[in-house]
Amino acid sequence: MTEKLSAEILDRFQDVERNYEEITGNIAKAALRSGRKPEDIILLAATKTVEPVIINHAVSLGLSYIGENKVQELLSKYEDYDLQHCDLQFIGHLQTNKVRQIVGKVSMIQSVDSVKLAGEIARQSVRQNIVTDVLVEVNIGREENKSGVLEESLDELLAQMALMEGIRVRGLMTIPPICEEKARVCKFFDKMHQLFIDISSKTLDNISMDVLSMGMSDDYQEAILCGANMVRVGSRLFGKRIYR
Ligand SMILES: *Cc1c(COP(=O)(O)O)cnc(C)c1O
Repeated sequence: MTEKLSAEILDRFQDVERNYEEITGNIAKAALRSGRKPEDIILLAATKTVEPVIINHAVSLGLSYIGENKVQELLSKYEDYDLQHCDLQFIGHLQTNKVRQIVGKVSMIQSVDSVKLAGEIARQSVRQNIVTDVLVEVNIGREENKSGVLEESLDELLAQMALMEGIRVRGLMTIPPICEEKARVCKFFDKMHQLFIDISSKTLDNISMDVLSMGMSDDYQEAILCGANMVRVGSRLFGKRIYR
């Protein structure tokens, strides 16, 4: 690197190093406690508001997955990610009219919750001659104004997606309701794990249940204990978000 890094950036590098070590250590422990290997659990860093120089430092420590949740922000940072060494995914709410801008740039879209959105991802992927991996987002807490499909509509959505060329369903994702008590959030994680198991037992074209993406800064260890194999951690890794 030719530019001299400011003292502030170097401080933040150190914070990220400390946090990364703590989080990967906790993930390893939770994996073992749940009868799996540390490497069975994917840590995806939620990178909203974080500058590429900081993200890339985390990648240099071994972080292999990053996720953005806004199309505009992803596009503005796109040239600066170290995509040789990490995999970029989309984890936020996605409007159908913005799909075209990210298909081909991200390896997975985690937030598919309607036939319309799935159809547009499929259409844009076919146009580019690629297959896009997607997760179906479930609104497991049945919260109003929250994205995600309701449990009872999941089978129908999957049945429709199974027919689409250009996408491949790889699993499920959720953002549970904010819970003060850990026991309450585990109820939602357990429900998600059960759905994941139930769907795994069926054979559907284009649909495999490889990824169960749940757990964030405050509850990633609980999520792993309940069966998550991907956790999405932002503030615990990069520090409190500063919206500019
Ligand atoms: C921001 C974000 C996260 C991470 O949130 P933290 O609480 O900061 O760890 C996870 N998933 C999604 C979809 C997000 O937008």
